[in-house]
Amino acid sequence: MSELLQLEDSITKLRGVGPHIETDLKKLGVTTLADLAELLPFRYEDRRKVRLIRELPYGQDVVIDVEIVKVGTRRSKTGRLIVEAKGKDPSGEISILWFNQRFILKIAQPGRRLLIYGTRKPAKSMGNPFFAKKIIDRPELVPIYPATAGLSQYRLVQLIHQLEPVLDQEKDLLPEPTRTTLKLPKKSEALRECHFQQDPDSAAVARRVLAAEELMLMSIKILQAHAARLQLMGQPIKIDADYLKELTAALTFKLTDSQRRAAWEILQDLTKTTPMNRLLYGEVGSGKTAVAMLVAGNVIKSGRQVVFLAPTVALADQHYQNLKNFFEPRGVTVAKLTGDVKTKEEADLYIGTHALLEEPGRFKNLGLVIIDEQHRFGVAQRQTLVATSKPPHLLMMTATPIPRSLAQTLFGHLDISLMTGKPIHQKEVTSRIFEENDRMEIENNIRARLKCHEPGFVICPLIVGEEQPRSLLSLERKTIESEEKRLAQEFPEAKIAVLHGRLKNADKEKIVADFRAGGKIDILLSTTVVEVGIDNPAATWILIEEADRFGLAQLHQLRGRVGRGAKESVCYLADSATSPKGRERLEALVSTTDGIALAEADLRLRGPGELTGIEQSGLPELKFFDWSEPQLFGQVFAEAKKIVNDGLEKYPNIIKAINAQNQKVETGGA
Ligand code: ADP
Ligand code: MG
Repeated sequence: MSELLQLEDSITKLRGVGPHIETDLKKLGVTTLADLAELLPFRYEDRRKVRLIRELPYGQDVVIDVEIVKVGTRRSKTGRLIVEAKGKDPSGEISILWFNQRFILKIAQPGRRLLIYGTRKPAKSMGNPFFAKKIIDRPELVPIYPATAGLSQYRLVQLIHQLEPVLDQEKDLLPEPTRTTLKLPKKSEALRECHFQQDPDSAAVARRVLAAEELMLMSIKILQAHAARLQLMGQPIKIDADYLKELTAALTFKLTDSQRRAAWEILQDLTKTTPMNRLLYGEVGSGKTAVAMLVAGNVIKSGRQVVFLAPTVALADQHYQNLKNFFEPRGVTVAKLTGDVKTKEEADLYIGTHALLEEPGRFKNLGLVIIDEQHRFGVAQRQTLVATSKPPHLLMMTATPIPRSLAQTLFGHLDISLMTGKPIHQKEVTSRIFEENDRMEIENNIRARLKCHEPGFVICPLIVGEEQPRSLLSLERKTIESEEKRLAQEFPEAKIAVLHGRLKNADKEKIVADFRAGGKIDILLSTTVVEVGIDNPAATWILIEEADRFGLAQLHQLRGRVGRGAKESVCYLADSATSPKGRERLEALVSTTDGIALAEADLRLRGPGELTGIEQSGLPELKFFDWSEPQLFGQVFAEAKKIVNDGLEKYPNIIKAINAQNQKVETGGA
């Protein structure tokens, strides 16, 4: 029967796969034999060490080879059934325990010889017995698969064993020269080893092969998208130097060199026939908005419309006020479009949230789309605006830093403008981690700042208490609700305002406007909605509750809310000691204000996550690639370039795989 099996076959062709097992396998992402072959062991259980009873170590998983002398049952104090056997080998005797496994009585009968895998644990009252895990057939290294509740290891192993004759059908996606460069074995070999050989490193090798395959497909897609874009006809827009001079002179400040350089790069790009696809990266507070303003002005002067997208209503409103004040006196019409403000009037410049994306048809002559803090927008959303017969130029702005090790590859399909440094008057922010015992001191510092009329932020992760599952042992979490009361008591003189996502848009706008106006709000108690861009140069302090629960990118953004004015500023980070690696993240944050250095640290601490902006890149999630080894990406990307240059048509396996993937996406398959 097995000769007839094909890798593409459904797993229902395997012996023992009924509807239940089929459903369980689906949960693991397995529908075909090929999928099953790629279900890698996540670890191995080493059942090779057979030890004499006399030499049994404590606390280590080992195998004993014993003859059962006698066996009986009893109940533990809590009512659990215990099967207790006496086993002996040439070196001595030991008591062996099983819990809640009555069927053991059928196997562990006096006189029988058994190999038992388990652990000796110190339990004096019971004579330091051997806690049995499993009776085994032979001492061996056993792969452990990601099983589910309904699907035991035993079943999975049975199924995978049926694959053995089929594995040779595995075709290598990676051509031979690529495998040589990357030092990878053939896929069929790698899979065979990890499922059937006695080598604990083989799963890692197989994982690398599969990771290289998925990276290869991704890299090729990136390169294809890049090439396709170069074929598009966009709208070249001339640089109007006189008008730009006029706009620059109207700014309330002098542009930094960095801003000039970035604006120039972008303006140059707009003159090309290919639509721009550019990422403007600049630290929080580096003044990206001013750059966007100049560029937008130039496009509007050429007779085209500009759309400026912000991730939140509060931020859209802030941009709207700024841009309106700047542009309206120069005869540019500015309109706002958020979820609940819809205007039908025509304008030169639209500012809004994603609501703008719901009616892509409304723009007659769209020349440029600017997306601020763009990681909040999905790729699909972005496409709705850009996928027209006359595609507009696209400028994305972000303060989410890109680790150097990934920039070249992950963002290979984007052009990048980097802004370094900050406008001169901005001050470094001192950061300090504190624990509950230091709260008094911290609050005294805040009191002193409030006396000097320096407003600030308190950030809480939760709005109200119900958001957390309650248990007796769980710590009291900080919420906006509880903190509002507490802060009112601690700082009776201060005017406190509350800002969070559940407020009505109009209320949010009013609070943001009041906070920026100065004098009206001393403490802005908020969730992370302030994270992206709320700008009040007078604010000199920010206190982040449960800071160890936040990601580095978010913390970096939050810290960027202060240090925007002339006064020295401070960021207080409350360590609730409840998050693994939380302290390390906080220490990394304290050690530098360089976003790119932080991105590198974050990548080390927890993989790419939000900081490297996988979402921003619009790339699919990777199943096998392990971010702790990012250089594999770079290596595969370089190989992909070679393949594309050589002519993809020579690589039918890759073409087939890409087509299959695209089909899956279209039909909505997993
Ligand atoms: P971000 O890059 O984080 O979006 P913004 O564009 O909000 O930064 O700018 C931060 C603050 O710096 C704003 O108050 C802005 O008016 C001010 N700013 C921008 N450019 C300059 C400059 N060249 N000189 C002085 N202040 C500037
Ligand atoms: Mg900004």
